[in-house]
Amino acid sequence: MNDIKINILASGSKGNCVVISDSGHRLIIDAGISYNQYLDGMSYDYYETEALFISHEHGDHCNYLNEYLRNGVNSYIGPNFFKNIQYSVYNIFLNKYEIMERVFTDNYEIIPIKMYHDCENCGFKITTKSGIKILFFTDTGAIKYIDEQFDYIIGECNYIEEIIKDNYHNEKIPLVAYERIMSYHMGLEDLIFFLKNQDLSITKKIISIHSSKNNSNKDIIKNELQRFGKIVEVY
Ligand SMILES: [Zn+2]
Ligand SMILES: [Zn+2]
Repeated sequence: MNDIKINILASGSKGNCVVISDSGHRLIIDAGISYNQYLDGMSYDYYETEALFISHEHGDHCNYLNEYLRNGVNSYIGPNFFKNIQYSVYNIFLNKYEIMERVFTDNYEIIPIKMYHDCENCGFKITTKSGIKILFFTDTGAIKYIDEQFDYIIGECNYIEEIIKDNYHNEKIPLVAYERIMSYHMGLEDLIFFLKNQDLSITKKIISIHSSKNNSNKDIIKNELQRFGKIVEVY
């Protein structure tokens, strides 16, 4: 069988980077850590870096894009990202993806899907050459049920409603932040609602990402998600 690996090298508001490794090829999602940190994180294999996809233009997802370009990584950004992108010779490695338009790299087919955030943001439906299907989404207020099955689901679980409400009432977070997080990020309840509507019959693993340090609790998230009877990882 296949040797697919999914590494969450960084997750959360300080930086995000997910690496999918399959059949000798790596696909990176988001450049919220430096190129060297990425190399260090993946130093145990000699897979080829095939492409980098950026979900959206918040710093925790794209701060280090230029470094990846300078190192010759074929990078893909959304249709309206970086309106003021600066000229650099390394931009020969910069590509744009369109929502719902397939991108083919050597080992992967990637379909960007629209998310709901305070800037343009995309999730990705990814299929490996050997037919393994992965769904990725982060930084979104909600995600609609998708009429497809996925072997792996990597999805945001930023906060737990009870905890963030407590933090707001105890003045640990201001109203603007509270409202922004509740509107533009997925909470545990949102993720559970999505998973309940989704056909999980082939799903092997649920990986929850982008959890907030103060507004969530990884043990609770893990316990709740394990009710779906799948392997669960929480970052
Ligand atoms: Zn983020
Ligand atoms: Zn964001």
